[in-house]
Amino acid sequence: MTTTTTPIAANLAAVREQIAAACERAGRDPGGVTIVGVTKTHPPSLVEEALAAGLTDIGENRAQELLPKAEAIKASGLAPRWHFIGRLQRNKVRGVLPHIAALHSLGSVRLADEIERRAERLEADRGTGARDPLPCYLEVNVAGEASKDGIAPEELPELLREAANRRHIAVAGLMTVAPLVDDPEQVRPVFRQLRELARAHGLEGLSMGMTDDYAVAVEEGATVVRLGRVIFGARRG
Ligand SMILES: *Cc1c(COP(=O)(O)O)cnc(C)c1O
Repeated sequence: MTTTTTPIAANLAAVREQIAAACERAGRDPGGVTIVGVTKTHPPSLVEEALAAGLTDIGENRAQELLPKAEAIKASGLAPRWHFIGRLQRNKVRGVLPHIAALHSLGSVRLADEIERRAERLEADRGTGARDPLPCYLEVNVAGEASKDGIAPEELPELLREAANRRHIAVAGLMTVAPLVDDPEQVRPVFRQLRELARAHGLEGLSMGMTDDYAVAVEEGATVVRLGRVIFGARRG
């Protein structure tokens, strides 16, 4: 073990402990939970610090922010797996696609079509043979909040069928953003419902849990947690 003393390394160690404890309560293997460090609003130097502390997966929610940051990190010789976790406009797919290892916010057939189209172009332009399909989580608005992205649970069968039909998309599972509440116990039913939906459709991946509710999400089966503030502190700007 190398020892590091940066705040981010300490925060990450504390998060890993919380995840291990939640896994123990739920009888799960902590190896089954991937931490995506969400660096939105933070500079590339913080991404580098997180990678030095052992994080391998980094999440961003805006194309305008992901692109320069990913370029800067690449120029430093580092290669994290970038996750796109926010609303992705179709006119941004072309720019984002070459950078990302996963998309957590697939919420429409139109977006799936655009991903397919752009991935086909990339493949043709590069001429280096078939691209691996992009792992995508279908975003479900479990709680039916008007302000939130994602499909209604009833819309899942159709989007799933369509997405599974696209050669360049690999359906990785389901994703949700739980409502803001005072007590994370209040959102346990939301996580449980996402897990039940995934199970009903034979999907394994569950991208759920953020700073305020990730322990509950892990207890309910999260395979990916998306953590910003608990690792990087308050957002800037
Ligand atoms: C910002 C963001 C997160 C991380 O939020 P924190 O509460 O800071 O952990 C996770 N998921 C999505 C979709 C986000 O936009």
